[in-house]
Amino acid sequence: MDLGLKDQVAIVTGGSRGIGRAAAEALLREGAKVVVASVRPASVEAAAKELSALGAVEGIAADVSVEADVVRLVAETVDRFGRLDVMIANAGIDGDAVNLADMTVAQWDEMMAVHLRGTFLCGREAARAMRSAGRRGRIVTVGSVSGIESEASGGHYCAAKAGIHGLTRSMAVDFAKWGIRANCVAPGWVRTDMTVDYIPPPGEPLVGCGVMDRVGEPEEIANAILFLASESCGFLTGETFVVDGGQIVAAPDLEPGAPAT
Ligand code: NAP
Repeated sequence: MDLGLKDQVAIVTGGSRGIGRAAAEALLREGAKVVVASVRPASVEAAAKELSALGAVEGIAADVSVEADVVRLVAETVDRFGRLDVMIANAGIDGDAVNLADMTVAQWDEMMAVHLRGTFLCGREAARAMRSAGRRGRIVTVGSVSGIESEASGGHYCAAKAGIHGLTRSMAVDFAKWGIRANCVAPGWVRTDMTVDYIPPPGEPLVGCGVMDRVGEPEEIANAILFLASESCGFLTGETFVVDGGQIVAAPDLEPGAPAT
């Protein structure tokens, strides 16, 4: 299937590792020109070098929580590649695991800054560039099943991800008049650096990862991102696309006699 991405220009934030890196690879394989962006210059430089075997790629260091960085990221992308068609707002952190009763304002603010302010800034700057160039662009944000259901000691992450789901709907509404679509991918557990402390190595037993009984690989999320970034889903906007191997589709069975937790 032709996804219509050949020669289109895409930014992938958090493109140096994990899900973003897989999304950058998938876009390059479709013939898109890709800017990978991430916060640590050495990380983004290494990724851009490795990805260059797949096509036209540039690396730009930018902290998505800093307005000037995101403005520069989009401006440099337009300078280098002439336009912007696709923004993948994927960069994220997992933060400290802390009960909300013990969470500091600094822990809360850091999470909101990277995820919510970062996604807002990436969406805003992408929409401005697309609007001024008359491009019918696509914005894909990355939420989480944690934005739909809750997890212990992750209240800041859950709130930020739920915020991204809502923010994406609002982008879809506000940007539709310029032909810009915005959709969100909400992954379940995926094997990346972010989850290395939570997911046992392949072959070891897993509990709670859903009806498919396994975690996802970054490439499986990248495929969903690729679809939402493409011209193939031209009637889709404001949607949150859960890609979780059935993690949240089934309620857990009752176990008679089990002690209440
Ligand atoms: P990862 O492997 O830890 O990679 C995180 C990426 O984000 C890296 O490229 C990192 O850059 C970049 N980054 C972090 N802070 C940044 C900032 N302030 N500005 C710019 N870039 C920044 O994470 P991942 O698992 O691929 O997660 C990607 C996205 O998916 C995140 O939004 C995450 O919340 C979401 N998600 C992940 C899972 C999962 O199970 N893995 C599940 C649901 C949702 P450097 O390389 O420069 O450090």
